Amino acid sequence: MAKSKNTLKLKFDSARNLDPAPESAAIAKIADRYELFINGKFEKPSSKKYFDTINPATEEKLSSIALANKADVDKAVVAARNAYDKVWKKLPAKERAKYIFRISRIIQEKARELAVIETLDGGKPIKESRDFDIPAAANHFFYNAGWADKLEYAFPNRNPKPLGVAGQIIPWNFPLLMAAWKIAPALATGNTVVLKPAENTSLTALKLAEIFQEADLPPGVVNIITGAGNTGAELVNHPGINKIAFTGSTEVGKIIQKSIAGTNKKATLELGGKAANIIFEDAPIDQAVEGIINGIFFNQGHVCCAGSRLFVQESVYKLVLQKLKDRIETLIVGNPMDKNTDIGAINSKQQLDVINNYLKIGQQEGSEIFQSSCALPKKGFYCKPTIFTNVAQSHRIAQEEIFGPVLAIQTFRTIDEAIEKANNTAFGLSAGVWTDKGSKIFNMTSKLRAGVIWANTYNKFDPTSPFGGYKESGFGREGGLHGLGGYVEV
Ligand code: ADP
Repeated sequence: MAKSKNTLKLKFDSARNLDPAPESAAIAKIADRYELFINGKFEKPSSKKYFDTINPATEEKLSSIALANKADVDKAVVAARNAYDKVWKKLPAKERAKYIFRISRIIQEKARELAVIETLDGGKPIKESRDFDIPAAANHFFYNAGWADKLEYAFPNRNPKPLGVAGQIIPWNFPLLMAAWKIAPALATGNTVVLKPAENTSLTALKLAEIFQEADLPPGVVNIITGAGNTGAELVNHPGINKIAFTGSTEVGKIIQKSIAGTNKKATLELGGKAANIIFEDAPIDQAVEGIINGIFFNQGHVCCAGSRLFVQESVYKLVLQKLKDRIETLIVGNPMDKNTDIGAINSKQQLDVINNYLKIGQQEGSEIFQSSCALPKKGFYCKPTIFTNVAQSHRIAQEEIFGPVLAIQTFRTIDEAIEKANNTAFGLSAGVWTDKGSKIFNMTSKLRAGVIWANTYNKFDPTSPFGGYKESGFGREGGLHGLGGYVEV
């Protein structure tokens, strides 16, 4: 026993004591100031106002970003409407496809710079932006480009027609990838776009605007307006918009739904989540533990489909808990630009405050907290990977979305109990099932109320697969043919 503890300690120390392997920031060309991207050009905002975007890992300012007001939103929507009527809807579909393929290729060419900027602006580990965010963003353009001239096969006998101008609002957790998720299918189906990135992470969307210029995308086909909630609300309420695509909090999703009620605007809303990962006693335990770790600590838990609740079959609870604690100790938390880092910076001070408040609430409610013993950097916004045990169904940490590296663990004895507990939430975005038995997987997937269910894996994405939720996790699907369906009238 003593020997294995020592071996483990050695393993922790060697993981933490890896020599730093920082990616260089030199490749990132970040201007001191960014304007609004309207009708193919960068324009000063009529508000004359700018806001700062900072690096959450160091709290240093990266750039000033233009704040779009109602007049700017109007200009962008008018540009998108003109581009729709005069250029984009008239263009043969295969010509549209060429532009979208070109965008995908330029993203690939600039992948390293985009990954560095994503990490500097958002705090996520460089290995994630490099290996996941940016390649996936390029893939979404590539996949949707392929459909542009084959829509009659995607929707046979249904004569698909574009909707017109799409207003798209995205969050800060996957900035470039969310922009690609939204822009690529809209363009492939012949719509034009006004996109508003999140105020904390506008940089890669603005870099994407530069890519649109390089790709010679006709002016006005995509417009990028920056700002916070008020700018988003102006876009939602603009009468010239035919479709709203939103990813963000359930709270704002509800506001948007109210604002567009009674209008002709179509909507897809991808909102919060409180996903359950369920481990049965017959699961490959080591693989499951790795999947759980990936599911909640990946991207600092800043993932709406994060596996933030874990249900473990009672017979393997002790074993799973010990393995989770051991694995958490080996996670490297800190400088997101270091290639070894597993958990980077929390995206903002505001989000860190939200997470820390839940850590307090969890303990006040009577749950037991376990955190990694790692040290956190002095500057910047960081949170240790955390697990809670002794969690009750009614606890707020088991019901509310925390959006941080915090896992709430509960146990179950029977399949029915696991299903009942997993479904006992207002959300229904995703879930994970870990078992050796295919029959159990099929049984669970038909009874879990979640839009996406992974079996013996977690957080796997592909542009061909639809993604979206039930209940308070929203409606509509993005990705795959379903994603294209959200941008056509049939
Ligand atoms: P989060 O809690 O993840 O920051 P939000 O829902 O607040 O999620 O933000 C997601 C996106 O919605 C951001 O781009 C934000 O600026 C925008 N937003 C915030 N409030 C509103 C609103 N009332 N109407 C439209 N967009 C909004």
